[in-house]
Amino acid sequence: MELLKEKIRQEGIAVNEHILKVDSFINHQVDPVLMQEMGKDIADHFKDKGITKVAAIESSGIAPALMASLALGVPLIILKKQPSKILNQDLYQTVVTSFTKETNYELTLSKKYISEEDHVLIVDDFLANGEAATAALRLLRMSHATIAGLAVLIEKSFQPGHDKLSAQGVEIYALAQIAKMAENLIQFKE
Ligand code: 5GP
Repeated sequence: MELLKEKIRQEGIAVNEHILKVDSFINHQVDPVLMQEMGKDIADHFKDKGITKVAAIESSGIAPALMASLALGVPLIILKKQPSKILNQDLYQTVVTSFTKETNYELTLSKKYISEEDHVLIVDDFLANGEAATAALRLLRMSHATIAGLAVLIEKSFQPGHDKLSAQGVEIYALAQIAKMAENLIQFKE
């Protein structure tokens, strides 16, 4: 999506060869117009897939997922991050390894908001190592819901997430794909 790529060129900060900061329009301050356009683009790509719910990974996935769910006309469910390991029979729970924070956390979803009837589109801000998306898949599959695909705003294609998820048969739609990064260098995949 050219609009997003242009914004990344203007405001994205490649901290090093692994981490891209997009705090001024996605992660800390949010550009609502760009977010809405990205949501519409994602919805347009998946419009014929029979999606019943959009799932966001808390917290940076919520804004794009909300915009996509609005454009698709289906509810948004939030896969919530919780630090505790307390077992709760009303929740599906799974552990995720965080790429940016280098810690583990629990991802949870209430059994009330998902069922085997659901066909779910997962939305997140970044696809890097694929740990967050893999955990989201695991969580949703506990309910026997089916997965329509994964939409991300930015895929760092030089990291293993894309291949890991593709190998599981997941359709991945990325609005911008980055082939290579270094300090102050961002190279998009053609
Ligand atoms: P993964 O599980 O695919 O390794 O990482 C996905 C999660 O880590 C995303 O939800 C995102 O919040 C965060 N993340 C991964 N790489 C980056 C990055 O380069 N910049 C930022 N801002 N977040 C990232």
